[in-house]
Amino acid sequence: MRKKLTILFYYLRAKLRFRASRHSILRWQNRRRAHITHFAKTHSLFYRNCCGELLSKKIMMDHFSSFNTQQIDKGEAFAIALAAERSRDFQPTIHGLTVGLSSGTSGNRGLFLVSEQERLAWCGAILAKILPRSLWYRQKVALFLRANSTLYETIGSGTISFAFFDLLEDLSTTRKKLTAYDPDVLIAPPSVLLRLAGTCQPKRVISVAEVLTSNDERRLADVFSQKIFQIYQCTEGFLGFTCPHGTLHLNEDLLIIEKEYIDDRRFIPIITDLYRTTQPIIRYRLDDILVEKKTLCPCGCSFLALERIEGRCDDVLYIALPQGGIRPLFSDFVSRRIIFVSEKIEEYEVVQTALTRWMIYVKSEFRPLVEKALRDLCKEAGGQPPEFVFVDQPLPRPPSAKLRRIRREYETV
Ligand SMILES: [Zn+2]
Repeated sequence: MRKKLTILFYYLRAKLRFRASRHSILRWQNRRRAHITHFAKTHSLFYRNCCGELLSKKIMMDHFSSFNTQQIDKGEAFAIALAAERSRDFQPTIHGLTVGLSSGTSGNRGLFLVSEQERLAWCGAILAKILPRSLWYRQKVALFLRANSTLYETIGSGTISFAFFDLLEDLSTTRKKLTAYDPDVLIAPPSVLLRLAGTCQPKRVISVAEVLTSNDERRLADVFSQKIFQIYQCTEGFLGFTCPHGTLHLNEDLLIIEKEYIDDRRFIPIITDLYRTTQPIIRYRLDDILVEKKTLCPCGCSFLALERIEGRCDDVLYIALPQGGIRPLFSDFVSRRIIFVSEKIEEYEVVQTALTRWMIYVKSEFRPLVEKALRDLCKEAGGQPPEFVFVDQPLPRPPSAKLRRIRREYETV
């Protein structure tokens, strides 16, 4: 009961803030920033000694033990997360905190800790922004994510039910299960959504985890006969959502977003999370490049509006199936297999240059193990492993391009 009330509280608050004026949002942000900074300086050794410099994932990870406010040791948390990852147990906890690993867009391992309170707040906030109808109506949500399912089980009772679909499962089985479940809301990466066309008629289709290109957006809108929504999030937080007018807004009720401009519209966001206290996130520089929208959104929400997310991420690779055809393999899976080979792997790249060829850059001592890990991954996904070509230098890419460690440089048909 307490859990549900907490979710309800954050749900209602998110609904109210959606309509707040710019002035009152800024006032609110300043108050919360003072509060969270004070909390971090009081409870985290890292913040006590830090002088406001920008954070990166590397800094957070290097100082993990002094950074978190619960005195959780990095080695211990890492061992628990790694064991859970290997056994595909999605609910590892340490001293009551959920612990997770992320490969992240920059390729470095990220270790994150979330308290129950933070999880409930996240649930309330996300429900307020993604559900097509209010919380009082019975709604079924289908999720295709490789994510910690405890987040969703938290709310998997009462009027809202969640079904978690495994991205590694065979597509025809998945399609059957999805048809049987008949969701009201379908949440998946765009490459998966494209393959789920015709299985169900959800009231809302939401793209996550990959960049939704305008081409895919049009195709999806066409096959599902509706507007496609987006959730923009990463391990550092729930960052943004699409409003009913189709504009992507950043969650300025949960975050402060500073902009490091690259040109007059493009910027790199520096975020301060106004709520997270287990791992306070104050002035954290993300890897993404965002493009600001210059015109006001007619929805009435005064949160920062985006034209699009650019250069986020992580491509999808494809593998050939023995019976013919291809299937997607998410870059996140590929990254994970590589970084779990050894903690010492810091530099790596995988570029798919043809359906049956992956070029791989990794130090020579790790090659046999990396090759085995990737071969196993392709087989587990039901595909034929490609030819792995190891190279001694990072692979060439356009000079302005952001580093994506896993990328595809051939066009699928
Ligand atoms: Zn809007």
